[in-house]
Amino acid sequence: MLKTVEIQGLAARRGAFRLLMAVLWQGRPLDGALDHALQGVSQSNDRALARSIASYTLRYLQEWDDLIDSTTAKPLPDDSRARMVLRLALTQAFVLNLPHHAVVATALPLIEGGPRRLVHGILGRLLRSDISASPSPRLPVAFAERWQKNYGDETVAALELAGARKPQLDLCLKDHTKIEHWLATFGAISLLAGHVRLPPDSPPVPELPGFQDGAWWVQDLAAQLPATLVGAKQGETIIDLCAAPGGKTLGLAATGATITAVDNDGKRMKLVIENLKRTGLAAKCIVADGLKWSPPQLVDAVLLDAPCSATGTYRRHPDVLHLRDSNKLADICAVQAALLDRALGWLKPGGRLIYAVCSLEPEEGEHQIASALIRHKNIRLVPVNPVEISSVLFDAITPDGCIRTLPSMINSEGGLDGFYIARLIKISA
Ligand code: SAM
Repeated sequence: MLKTVEIQGLAARRGAFRLLMAVLWQGRPLDGALDHALQGVSQSNDRALARSIASYTLRYLQEWDDLIDSTTAKPLPDDSRARMVLRLALTQAFVLNLPHHAVVATALPLIEGGPRRLVHGILGRLLRSDISASPSPRLPVAFAERWQKNYGDETVAALELAGARKPQLDLCLKDHTKIEHWLATFGAISLLAGHVRLPPDSPPVPELPGFQDGAWWVQDLAAQLPATLVGAKQGETIIDLCAAPGGKTLGLAATGATITAVDNDGKRMKLVIENLKRTGLAAKCIVADGLKWSPPQLVDAVLLDAPCSATGTYRRHPDVLHLRDSNKLADICAVQAALLDRALGWLKPGGRLIYAVCSLEPEEGEHQIASALIRHKNIRLVPVNPVEISSVLFDAITPDGCIRTLPSMINSEGGLDGFYIARLIKISA
């Protein structure tokens, strides 16, 4: 009986193909699609390769499509298998620098019943030409246009540069006083109290020292700012609304304040509980809809990390720019405003609310706070004092004392996610 021999590395490419399909054809987030798309890809290095091929393909999608279209008189359909396979192959050849013979050998079987000769011809032609991956892959047109209007041409160019590579890993320490020890352990830098930025290409998270002991958690530098700006003190009562998977809950719990974490997604709340267990920190976890639930007593502070388009995270999650439908922005903004109104009602007089979104869209950030200040006459902005953050982040402070980070900021230190953060105080009941 004849035995079929699987081409070496084909399993990873099949996985990458299924991942790309999940994002572009089914509109599923890349991380959410991993388990299903990588079924049968058993080796951890193959799984990592599949993820890497798919996520770099999303970063370079515009460039690859231009190249592919330059080789055909009639463009291949946008959603065709042939175009998908070519996109994946170009990433392997020109971003991951894999040997061209391996790229071709693993691309052709993915065509299945499709135009194998055509794909072989296009790929051969492109691989023979003198191509190098741009250091600034273009953003999807809809986002380039939006951000050009909101931030200008120069910032869009800087945002494209920021999107080329996967960013370094950031950690947040449970005990900020141990910073020197962890910087020495990892050969790392720190850009905020308790923040540790690892050198590029660090080992997988579970293999890093301190993970099992819960000495730190993974959290982008910008995502560490909201909990810092709460300024939580021991004895205070604080609600972390929209808490899962819990990065900010951990930051608040580490201060010794009494924390209640609320999220309406029970599955995601399990991650908060796991994270609290691993780090040995405490918070009361409640699965509830913030639009219906109320705390039994008024509290000193609320951190509202509202659900949002997440467009500020496109460096780590390039899929966000291929999933978002700008028509849905109005719906998500309505939820953000409703959650803001609810959360303001939970504050004691003198209580503070930190509003955060990992979005680059002013509708979800600046406009939300401007509208809240009109709707509620009993709230004021409390400007961020530069001493509360590190000097490298001063440019992120807006004229009215809020925070607007862009992935293009602190580029020489490795950038950060895009966030908008505002701090409000309730001056009377
Ligand atoms: N704060 C989290 C962290 O630092 O790990 C990230 C929060 S994520 C941006 C937004 C969260 O809002 C999601 O976990 C989602 O389940 C939750 N959410 C959305 N609508 C909600 C609602 N009506 N009530 C409570 N939670 C909600």
